[in-house]
Amino acid sequence: MIKIAVLCSGGDCQGMNACIQTIVNMASVHGIMVMGVRRGYQGLMENDFVELTRESVANIGHLGGCFLKVARSEEFKKPEGVKLGHDNLVKNRIDYLIVIGGNGSYRGAIELSELGTKVIAIPGTIDNDLFYTDRTLGFDTAVNNAVSTIDNIRQTMEANDRGFIAEVMGRECGHIALNVAAAVGAHSCAVKEVPVEISDVVSDVKQCLSKGIKSPVVVISEACEFTANDVKEAIEKECGIECRSSVVGYVQRGGAPSVMDRLLAIQSGVMAIELIYKGIYNVALGIRNNNVFYMKLDEVYELDNEFNKVLYRQLRNLHNLK
Ligand code: ATP
Repeated sequence: MIKIAVLCSGGDCQGMNACIQTIVNMASVHGIMVMGVRRGYQGLMENDFVELTRESVANIGHLGGCFLKVARSEEFKKPEGVKLGHDNLVKNRIDYLIVIGGNGSYRGAIELSELGTKVIAIPGTIDNDLFYTDRTLGFDTAVNNAVSTIDNIRQTMEANDRGFIAEVMGRECGHIALNVAAAVGAHSCAVKEVPVEISDVVSDVKQCLSKGIKSPVVVISEACEFTANDVKEAIEKECGIECRSSVVGYVQRGGAPSVMDRLLAIQSGVMAIELIYKGIYNVALGIRNNNVFYMKLDEVYELDNEFNKVLYRQLRNLHNLK
């Protein structure tokens, strides 16, 4: 009997539960036994395994968070940590390991594969910062959650002719910020991929105010060097309007996964088991043009951050900004 393990690493994201559930259900179709590793690589080093069955994962697919729990582990970044994790997989007679995680988790997966662990990696991070795939699990829901929060706050801002500055997640990149900004039609968007100063944001807002906009909306990424409150203070001082700022924060990670994330979770979970059944490993799954595909795990970092400059430009054109 084939025996596999699955773990989730890095930050939790919507779709992880749906993916775990699919992996378990699909594995049972092929008579494959699934062990869950609790708390990512930390749990792997601590030998924290639990058997997963159709019954134990029933009714988790529609939930955010992570049934197996996630962790970040500095210890696992050391060669001794990876070796310990690998040894525990051998001890538990695991034939394949499925890792669901982001950029950092993939590095850990590659290191395990170099010791002989047979790995399948599934992209799971709200940041969408694995550039070989169009999307990662959690990104679509995080964007939707931020958009709905901004829509709500915007109504009260408009009733009071106030400006609003929202800071959204994305530790290293501005994909969430750009997509949220475009979806709400923000009057200015600050991301680290496009060098902007606070004075540039103020200039965008001034131009929009001069065209009769009463409640400008600004979206900035948490990866920027300035905060939403810095922007609020600058706009109030330079433009003479009252503003409010808000860090959208963890609401982006919470709640049910969107349909897009559920589909990605299901497509990836099914493909992962099909690959294992065929004996294919050390690959990363991704989605391109709505189709799941796989590629060599150690080639995923060859693709650079493709920031969507076209979308960024279109958003500026929408408000006739230079
Ligand atoms: P998110 O996008 O949600 O933050 P992530 O996978 O990018 O997810 P990280 O904190 O970067 O999150 O990485 C998760 C874990 O992966 C780390 O805590 C560490 O245990 C492991 N990891 C990261 N880099 C390496 C590395 N170079 N070698 C071994 N393990 C690593």
